[in-house]
Amino acid sequence: MHKKKALVIGSGFAGLSAAINLAAKNFDVTVLEKNTTIGGRARHFSESGFSFDMGPSWYWMPDVFESFFNKFGKSVSDYYELIRLDPSYQVVYEGGDFMPIPAKMTELESLFESIEGGAGLRLREFLKQAAYKYEVGINKLVYKPGRSLTEFASLKLLVDVVRMDVFQSMSKHVRKFFKHPKLIQLMEFPVLFLGALPENTPALYSLMNYADMSLGTWYPKGGMHKIVEAMGSLAEEMGVRLLTDHEVKKINHQNGKAVSVDTNHGEIAADVIIAGADYHHVETKLLDQQSRNYSDQYWQKRVMAPSSLLYYVGLNKKLDGLLHHNLFFDTDFTPHAHDIYTDPKWPEKPLFYASLTSKTDDTVAPEGCENLFLLIPVAPGLQETEEIREQYFNMIVKRMEEHTGQSILKHIVYKRSFAHRDFVKDYNSFKGNAYGLANTLTQTAILKPSLKSKKLKNLYYTGQLTVPGPGVPPSLISGIVVADEVEKDMF
Ligand SMILES: Cc1cc2nc3c(=O)[nH]c(=O)nc-3n(C[C@H](O)[C@H](O)[C@H](O)COP(=O)(O)OP(=O)(O)OC[C@H]3O[C@@H](n4cnc5c(N)ncnc54)[C@H](O)[C@@H]3O)c2cc1C
Repeated sequence: MHKKKALVIGSGFAGLSAAINLAAKNFDVTVLEKNTTIGGRARHFSESGFSFDMGPSWYWMPDVFESFFNKFGKSVSDYYELIRLDPSYQVVYEGGDFMPIPAKMTELESLFESIEGGAGLRLREFLKQAAYKYEVGINKLVYKPGRSLTEFASLKLLVDVVRMDVFQSMSKHVRKFFKHPKLIQLMEFPVLFLGALPENTPALYSLMNYADMSLGTWYPKGGMHKIVEAMGSLAEEMGVRLLTDHEVKKINHQNGKAVSVDTNHGEIAADVIIAGADYHHVETKLLDQQSRNYSDQYWQKRVMAPSSLLYYVGLNKKLDGLLHHNLFFDTDFTPHAHDIYTDPKWPEKPLFYASLTSKTDDTVAPEGCENLFLLIPVAPGLQETEEIREQYFNMIVKRMEEHTGQSILKHIVYKRSFAHRDFVKDYNSFKGNAYGLANTLTQTAILKPSLKSKKLKNLYYTGQLTVPGPGVPPSLISGIVVADEVEKDMF
């Protein structure tokens, strides 16, 4: 039988996942990627003996990755070696105080108890509730395509949704259990991955604490791009064509159906198109006005997840006192959060995150050297310049020098920065966002940009701006969900 031709725009995790899932459903799949390498925001590069992951660095929810590969008769271990980090990460406080977060639950409970009497047992109860949310959230809710409220209409699921604290904020929920500012900050940190403040994030997302503390922080040896390589290999094994340096310029349509795309290498015909590039870009640059789902006004009202100032740095020495993942919470987050979410502007004294994969992996830096990845979350849509990048770099390196008591600046042998302009240029990112659309209550499930075009019946969307949301595991799931919808609609 003639196989239906599916074109996937973009080779991020969502695009690759959609491609693999469609190939398994017997589609003839081609992925069109504008960049010269696959992986989207999770690309990597090597320079001067250092190997840098460009985007994601936290491997959480290992079960989602395992079940993804299991669907195709594979296992994560067929492609890469996973290492559980212990401590999982550390938090750095003002005055040089460090708090490593142990991977073992008994040690974690003791740590909580040592900070606040009774907090050890309360952590156990908090994580018990979070486990339930994870079970229902990750195994049932995130696989809903969000096309209609009827998807949530089963009585059992409605009861689950209510039990899952959808209408209470994460901020209130955490404060019911803990009082000490250090514990509150620690429990609220994971929802920052979802792109919104804890007061605007439903307490359903305490499932992220379960992912953090119970399931653990892992690292694929070689770096996060090992996941991309694994998915690229699996896609090719399944007959998917991965065409890099293929930028889609336009989606052509006839009689209410998408029929082909124009690329920098000419026109390519399709029976179905799955857009894994940033949703806003696809709507405003690849489609004509009448084929768009949403107006400009709609997009301007969306709450985007932050953008980031990123630095990839090679040091010609080892640094003491830092771990693989380090959260610099050495300053008050309130004014920084205000500058990201409420009144977008450059922050005066931002929090930041430092990752040193060379603490775990000797393949990512030359011997005796350190591989340093620095991230400052900032508001999307800001105007940035080389001077601004330099100013923030010097600011956070100085803080790291103060905290570790070691010189860093004069040991830099490689440095590259990446910010808004690069997000726009490399990924066609809306306002230079780093990780999509914030997971606020009014941007959840059916309230997210729809995974299906309302105008062209064979055009679909996947990725971090549609269901289920930002992050590597949700992007993998997004590809699965969209492939299932395509199959349902076309057969
Ligand atoms: C700095 C940073 C840190 C992060 N940290 C973490 C983390 O630690 N853990 C975690 O789970 N998640 C993290 N995330 C989020 C996670 O990386 C993303 O949610 C996920 O990678 C998004 O995948 P995607 O497929 O939706 O989008 P993308 O990866 O952006 O893929 C879209 C692809 O479409 C391509 N494209 C765009 N326009 C066109 C066009 N016209 N034609 C052809 N191709 C086109 C782009 O080049 C890109 O390859 C982080 C993200 C960033 C940026």
